Amino acid sequence: MAAMMQPQIILLKEGTDTSQGKAQLVSNINACTAVADVVRSTLGPRGMDKLIHDDKGTVTISNDGATIMKLLDIVHPAAKILVDIAKSQDSEVGDGTTTVVLLAAEFLREAKPFIEDGVHPQNLIRSFRNASYKAIQKIKELAKSIEGQSLEEKKRLLSKCAATTLSSKLIGGEKEFFASMVVDAVGAIGDGDRLNMIGIKKVPGGTMRDSFLVNGVAFKKTFSYAGFEQQPKKFLNPKILLLNIELELKSEKENAEIRLSDPSQYQSIVDAEWNIIYEKLDKCVQSGAKVVLSRLAIGDLATQYFADRDIFCAGRVAEEDLLRVAAATGGTVQTSVNNVVDEVLGTCEHFEERQVGNERFNIFSGCPSGRTATIVLRGGADQFIEEAERSLHDAIMIVRRATKNSTVVAGGGAIDMEISKYLRQESRAIAGKSQFFINSYAKALEVIPRQLCDNAGFDATDVLNKLRQKHALPTGEGAPYGVDINTGGIADSFANFVWEPAVVKINAINAATEAACLILSVDETVKNPKRSGIRERRAR
Ligand code: ADP
Ligand code: MG
Repeated sequence: MAAMMQPQIILLKEGTDTSQGKAQLVSNINACTAVADVVRSTLGPRGMDKLIHDDKGTVTISNDGATIMKLLDIVHPAAKILVDIAKSQDSEVGDGTTTVVLLAAEFLREAKPFIEDGVHPQNLIRSFRNASYKAIQKIKELAKSIEGQSLEEKKRLLSKCAATTLSSKLIGGEKEFFASMVVDAVGAIGDGDRLNMIGIKKVPGGTMRDSFLVNGVAFKKTFSYAGFEQQPKKFLNPKILLLNIELELKSEKENAEIRLSDPSQYQSIVDAEWNIIYEKLDKCVQSGAKVVLSRLAIGDLATQYFADRDIFCAGRVAEEDLLRVAAATGGTVQTSVNNVVDEVLGTCEHFEERQVGNERFNIFSGCPSGRTATIVLRGGADQFIEEAERSLHDAIMIVRRATKNSTVVAGGGAIDMEISKYLRQESRAIAGKSQFFINSYAKALEVIPRQLCDNAGFDATDVLNKLRQKHALPTGEGAPYGVDINTGGIADSFANFVWEPAVVKINAINAATEAACLILSVDETVKNPKRSGIRERRAR
């Protein structure tokens, strides 16, 4: 019987799951739209937050597209691409993560009817790429430079950008307060890719307004030993010794064996141990340092010894903090106390140990090599502070970007409307089907202002009509008009200082188009079967 059957051509292993063709493409598009629908409602100043709790019971509240996408644990292979672009937007520019996901999904949604009608995806891809190129050129043209302004003026402008980023976050209510803090922090570290020189320390308790910026380094004291109360807690221009050694009296019982013939010798061994530690401590004191920090433990003997000599010490300082202190104060971390010369000691204008909430903080400010800043964040719940930290991170990235590229565009959907109008105009000059594709691309860009309206509870159709009309003005004076989040009408985003760095939009459009094209170019998904011993045996 079996011999009479048609021989089958088998290319793939038994159990391989394949799906292909138009149906596959449409299903991929649907998956991406579903993902975008999750983050949709977080866009803009009136956007909502998401509460996500994972299988371990960790609760995260966030408004940040990238964070949400990461936590969603998406398994659909095509939809995963959206997670990747959100992540890349986050690491490239730091903001615009929701925007990029929404745009990509909207491009796909616009492409879907064409695909269903049998248009070849490659035609769509070519037109979309073309449109994105044109859009980016136009953004560059429209962007306004903030270069050439005085430092004060520049700071003011940068803090506008930071405020726009923060306005969509939990801490949006205090955006001016935090925006100027972020601008000062970024100003402090200067150029160079040394983002880790801005530390953010979270101290639960107090209110947001209790947060403060240290022009230098601040960190939480991990350990306090007896004797620490007597230590002075404030110094002006102290010398600072940074160590990577333990200053603790250790009996060597775990790692040494000593045989004694005479019990009286025992005392001499104990004495020797004491001598070793005292010698070390003495060397620290002689170096002239007034503040001694170590990555490893500083025990109670040492603490008392230093206290008696008016020296402050702190042990078990986290490595990153110690390195930041080193960078800020100009000191070098020592692995031995022999030969501590003046050059390896750091200094700062002002050192203080201070109570912040329930924690004791060591604060080094006015550091000579500057270039470090620490933001101490206060606030109620843990999740709140966590989200505040993520928001500040966005703002810090934005200010850095704006400092480097220093061109901004009008936010609130203004730039998106303007690009949309421009592409529609351009498409008219194109013959053939491509005109429709570019038109759909242009229509997809409207998703940003529409979503901003939806999230704020405005009538999106009404607002979009007004915006289209404004942007269509032949004089071009309507270009900076975007959604007015306060009144539900339209307003000049530029005049209202709703600004975004141009790179955010450029990168978002680029990444979203690439992702959409990538998904459009997939027409078959092959899923390999899990290797299982049982099936293989049966197959044999
Ligand atoms: P993303 O993760 O993409 O940055 P956000 O939730 O931060 O998403 O929202 C950003 C959008 O909100 C941008 O399009 C920006 O122009 C807009 N936006 C921010 N502040 C305002 C404001 N005050 N009025 C109108 N639109 C605003
Ligand atoms: Mg944002």
